[in-house]
Amino acid sequence: MLASLREIVQDVASAGSFREALDLLVIDIRAALGTEVCSVYLVDPHQNAFLFAANEGLNQELVGQFTLSREEGLVGLVAERAEPINLEDASTHPRFRYLEEIGEEAFNAFLGVPIIHHRTVLGVLVVQQRKSRRFDESEEAFLVTLAAQLATVVAHAQATGEVVALTSTPDAVREDELYRGVAGSPGIALGTAVVMLPLADLSSVPDRQTDDVTAELLIFDRAVETVREDIKRISEQFAESLPAEELALFDAYLHMLDDGAIPGDVRDRIRLGQWAQGALRQVIREHLRTFEQMEDPYLRERGADVKDLGLRVLAVLQDARTKKQNFPDDTVLVGEEVTAGMLANVPAESLKAIVSVRGAGSSHVAILARALGVPAVMGAVDLPLYGIEHQEMAVDGFYGEVYCSPSEATRERFQLLIDEEDEFSAELEELKDLPSVTNDGWRIRLWVNIGLTGDLSRSLDRGAEGIGLFRTEVPFMTQERFPTEEEQRVIYRDHMEAFEPRPVTMRTLDIGGDKALSYFPIIEENPFLGWRGIRVTLDHPEIFLAQVRAMIKANAGLEGLLRIMLPMISGLDEVEEAMALVHRAYDEVLEEGVEVKRPHVGVMVEVPAAVYQARELAKVVDFLAVGSNDLTQYMLAVDRNNPRVADLYKELHPAVLTALREVARAAHMEEKPVGICGELAGTPFGAVLLMAMGYDVLSMNATNLPKVKWVIRNIKRSQARRMLAKVLKMGHVKDIEAYMRQEMIDAGLGRVVPRHRD
Ligand code: PEP
Ligand code: MG
Repeated sequence: MLASLREIVQDVASAGSFREALDLLVIDIRAALGTEVCSVYLVDPHQNAFLFAANEGLNQELVGQFTLSREEGLVGLVAERAEPINLEDASTHPRFRYLEEIGEEAFNAFLGVPIIHHRTVLGVLVVQQRKSRRFDESEEAFLVTLAAQLATVVAHAQATGEVVALTSTPDAVREDELYRGVAGSPGIALGTAVVMLPLADLSSVPDRQTDDVTAELLIFDRAVETVREDIKRISEQFAESLPAEELALFDAYLHMLDDGAIPGDVRDRIRLGQWAQGALRQVIREHLRTFEQMEDPYLRERGADVKDLGLRVLAVLQDARTKKQNFPDDTVLVGEEVTAGMLANVPAESLKAIVSVRGAGSSHVAILARALGVPAVMGAVDLPLYGIEHQEMAVDGFYGEVYCSPSEATRERFQLLIDEEDEFSAELEELKDLPSVTNDGWRIRLWVNIGLTGDLSRSLDRGAEGIGLFRTEVPFMTQERFPTEEEQRVIYRDHMEAFEPRPVTMRTLDIGGDKALSYFPIIEENPFLGWRGIRVTLDHPEIFLAQVRAMIKANAGLEGLLRIMLPMISGLDEVEEAMALVHRAYDEVLEEGVEVKRPHVGVMVEVPAAVYQARELAKVVDFLAVGSNDLTQYMLAVDRNNPRVADLYKELHPAVLTALREVARAAHMEEKPVGICGELAGTPFGAVLLMAMGYDVLSMNATNLPKVKWVIRNIKRSQARRMLAKVLKMGHVKDIEAYMRQEMIDAGLGRVVPRHRD
């Protein structure tokens, strides 16, 4: 059974389309269970009914046409109960409905199993048999296991519109089709969808006919040539350091790229009218199937090489396409997983909004969107990626909602909100040179987070009084190798000079988690709990020392204070080791004859352990800075990138707020300054509560800074402290959110509270 289960799952995974996957599925299940009929019914979200989506053994002409209402028959009952129904003689069951239309005869034995994803029934798998017999327990368990594995495939097909596309009469474009995700970056936008397909993901390449076979052949041949060159280059690079058997892999790759091998098959398919990417996917899939069926585990593993090669060629093909993609003036960038790299392809002035099927509110792309001031919706898991290209979209980044093909009324409503926001932004510009002081005279520093965008002047225009977080990973990400000490010094110096004489906080390299360097891949099962931040750089002192020396040298001759900040600290040992290296780097710079001041060194409080040791940490460093993005993720055990659990990611969670207050207290008991540079600092509610807790510095993106300054200047600290005292007594996030909303509105600060859904 396990073998057939594996084969069926493989067949489904390697099918060319969802239609093909379903057809293979019913054939395979019928054979595995030796039954007469196998059908798949899927929920059609538009018709709110079950679609007869695939079948073996009944009238196949009605596949994709016939529907059952949600309450009808035994299929409806399986869905209602969300558990299997196994009957020896279905016809005697009160919910039995004889489906003459699809050719049901006297099939007595019935086993129906729900396909459930995230607590929602997406469909029902059914097997039937004429003779009275009971499907036994192992057959039932087999189908339950299969249905659980299929659920993600079906959910994806729902999301990409492939389930709706199964119906023979797809719906006309509907207006105001609403898709929900989570708020990624506040703001409202109207624009035109441009879909970025995930880069180098073979399984998501659609079939597409081409009318320019010659051009597709040329594109393909060029891609193969580029990959050939790359492989040769890598092989030469490793000629000295790799053993011969490893080097043989490169030769095997080159053989597979010979004319007679994979490229020949791909060209044949292009000549039949398939575009290059589709032809490549088809051929690689066939080769993979052959490998997967091999008994010898060594040979089976070699399938991975074919796949890798396919991905390399695909990456070049897609790169060529992306480069010539046109972006309208009102681009809404849509993707399965929008990445910072994709954003770089869109001219800044054309980018109006971002919608990502994956990711959540604290993903780095969302942070980047906020820094750019572009509304974003993350984790819109149901948004179909196919068929929405060039459709109009209305994006609500406050509530995490997207309307496809908005109606006239929706467009007017959104336009009004856009005008209001523009008007408010224009007013906020006047605050630029005014201090961030509350109505009752409490001064708090508003600094800026920098690094994700190269936009220095914008931060200064917005009145930032210092840099609270320079994410130095970015200069590392844009290179093809580690940047040299001098390359780093030049970049850091630019920032320090631009901010002179203001303080600049440089974070040491924080890779791992969701921040990867292409030339230094870290592959781990659980990357957020793995080799991240300071753990990597302490293991690689040569990288750490070069970076710290570059920072110290960049500060030479400047008045502005250099603050070096250590990420992901989970204990005193790490701080002591890192401090020793910083001191060594400082001495080395002095020995080189460069005159520089000793930098301040601080730690980020991002790990719960650091909250509990905040006082001990504060004793040995010059400052503390809370990274609330990671602290929230680790305290609540919620992956900041995972849309499945995005609803659980709450920065205003009572436990997080208590921890934040404790860190501020601990730092002040040691008379050390404490700041916060997580996204919470840049939100109106967060800023008010953190100010009340006594944080000395709030560091945020340049976009949010004027709004936060406006809030600070229009509130009294005594009011904020009263709110904090109330909030700290509440046990539920929703109560805290509701209370803060109302208090802010009552305090005359309603302009920063989104209210268009009230
Ligand atoms: C944080 O974790 O809050 C933080 C500022 O760092 P990053 O978002 O880069 O992980
Ligand atoms: Mg962090």
